[in-house]
Amino acid sequence: MPPNHGPASPALTDALDALRPSLPSPLVAAEDERFTRRGLRLLLKRDDLIHPELPGNKWRKLVPNLRAAAEQGSTTLLTFGGAYSHHLRATAAAGRLLGLTTIGVVRGAELADRPLNPSLARCAADGMRLHFTDRGTYRRKHEPEVLAGLRGRFGDFHLVPEGGSNASAARGCAALGRELRGAADVVAVPCGTGGTLAGLAAGLAREQRAIGFAVLRGGFLDGETERLQRAAFGARRGDWRVEERFHFGGYGKVPGELRAFAEDFSARHGLAVERLYVAKMLYGLTALAGEGAFPPGTAVAAVVTGSG
Ligand SMILES: *Cc1c(COP(=O)(O)O)cnc(C)c1O
Repeated sequence: MPPNHGPASPALTDALDALRPSLPSPLVAAEDERFTRRGLRLLLKRDDLIHPELPGNKWRKLVPNLRAAAEQGSTTLLTFGGAYSHHLRATAAAGRLLGLTTIGVVRGAELADRPLNPSLARCAADGMRLHFTDRGTYRRKHEPEVLAGLRGRFGDFHLVPEGGSNASAARGCAALGRELRGAADVVAVPCGTGGTLAGLAAGLAREQRAIGFAVLRGGFLDGETERLQRAAFGARRGDWRVEERFHFGGYGKVPGELRAFAEDFSARHGLAVERLYVAKMLYGLTALAGEGAFPPGTAVAAVVTGSG
């Protein structure tokens, strides 16, 4: 059995229960004429409501890693991210909420001499130790010499990869797919590293399919999602594909057209649309509906992975 399905540390299980996550997350119908006009039903899977500080896929991906750490007797997590990483924020919050030591290795040695941006300031306030590293070393972060250097500096730790995506994380996200069984024909999810898509697609029923909307440029997600599925489940699983047309120039790029779309969607549906991931997925999904990509009668669920 994969480690996250084994007996977990009872103390950790109790601590996680005490955080009262909203699981399974709510699935709500959304009335949107851009979909109804095509005979489609739009549903919103509100993973953003799972926990205020560990929203969406961050909860689903971190919890199995926390269990793995607990099983190894480790109370220190070390992970990696850019200066605005949602994953670093969530890891720092988990550390504060669960009494774990967290270390964040941040890309960009030059940041060490500047005031912390709001995202990193939040990490520091949550007790995360921040370690800034030059881009060359950051790129080699999973190599043994670099890790040995980090162990020399910080002592022993449980390593969580950049973006939090590994086999445990993908297995955690399979629950998202299982929660959606029987509820939709097509499920849309935004993709950074592909970990959420890897798990989601594996958890869906045979007749359902998933579309991942890339928010980064580079066309690496197909290979990366498949690699994560092989690591987590031993093989490629489920019916899924990656849509690369809606990244709007790359990570963090939010041009006016996308901002306007997000504001309009927020007003129509009464939820604050997160810009870096969720807006791109919703924009892309709406465009596909408009292109006639789905036959009438299709129920389309959009996973709201985070909050704005
Ligand atoms: C981190 C994040 C993602 C990316 O998930 P991956 O598993 O890395 O593909 C998507 N949406 C939101 C809101 C996120 O914070």
